[in-house]
Amino acid sequence: MGRSSESPDIRQINRSRIFHYLYTHDALSRQEIAYALRMSLPTVTQNLRDLAQMGLVEDKGPLVSTGGRCARAVAFNRQARLAAGVEISANHLTMAVCDLTGTVLKNQRVRLKFSNQRAYFREAAQLTCNFLDSPNTAAGQLLGVGIVLPAQISPDGRQVAYTDDSAFHKVSLASFSEFFPFRCLLFSEPQAAGYAERRGRPTPKNSLYLSLSRNIAGAILPAQGEWTGEHLKAGNFGHLPLKPDGPFCSCGARGCANLFCAANVLTQCAGGRLDNFFVNLQRGNEKYRAAWETYKKSLLHLVWMLHTAFDCDIILGGPVSLYLDDYLPELQQACAILPFSQDGSWLQLSAYKLESAAVGAAQMQVDPYVAQF
Ligand SMILES: [Zn+2]
Repeated sequence: MGRSSESPDIRQINRSRIFHYLYTHDALSRQEIAYALRMSLPTVTQNLRDLAQMGLVEDKGPLVSTGGRCARAVAFNRQARLAAGVEISANHLTMAVCDLTGTVLKNQRVRLKFSNQRAYFREAAQLTCNFLDSPNTAAGQLLGVGIVLPAQISPDGRQVAYTDDSAFHKVSLASFSEFFPFRCLLFSEPQAAGYAERRGRPTPKNSLYLSLSRNIAGAILPAQGEWTGEHLKAGNFGHLPLKPDGPFCSCGARGCANLFCAANVLTQCAGGRLDNFFVNLQRGNEKYRAAWETYKKSLLHLVWMLHTAFDCDIILGGPVSLYLDDYLPELQQACAILPFSQDGSWLQLSAYKLESAAVGAAQMQVDPYVAQF
């Protein structure tokens, strides 16, 4: 059966089935594909030719012979398209590039102080081009660059809708597009980081992502799909009131979680550095131990409220989470005795650490591309 006898719909379905079969398998012969998908050999051959023209399938040479003529193997070309993510934070640029399976090919974090000035965007674009080895990246290979901001992004994807960090209030997509020679998209930090964390788990489960950064942010991660709220403010956990009579928060309310759980609560007694704080804590310094106990109490209060409301795993990310490996057991133990908590295993740490948002922004471009087949 040749191309002419396939209706466009059938051709589309056949191509999709072959694409996704190859996507989830190692190198295969045409015969193996035809047998597994119950298609005729000419149909498989024609569709493989179409996919090869798009660069999505590559010849892998002869399969190991078991006698007779060797069949040739074909495989999905994971690097036919790439996607990048660039997380912009107050003092760093974190970059990652992923192939079509969402696997991280490389990542890099460089120090670059953010300012809403053209010179900053020019430098960020240059660093990203160097990282991506542009212009040596093949034309059309890069799907785009997902720019991640510590902010909620407007529904049209063009500007910041809400942020706790005033430096990012007026940042827009146009600021980046002027200097980045790629298709750019804006993403929210907790949404992108949460996406990578959920995608990286063996089984996607309903969960929450809680970013312990300069400001507390979060994302609600249903096992599938997303929940951003009616006004894109879902996951704004930093403004949950921990102490209704506490000090005023920048939002105008009192005692918000930001005031007790943000990274600067720990760094203010450690010269502004988280590594200093945790080194001194490890050394048993009493002042740091007391600060940690106070911080821990607030953090547990926050995750307890969230767990009580959502009854799901909570993934801690952001800069503070980098230092929590040694403290997770004591946090989980404390969680285990909370009301409505069978054990503390629902409290977990980020798998991607500081790269999660950049990786997520790349994967959020790769996955729809793959799904369209
Ligand atoms: Zn607040």
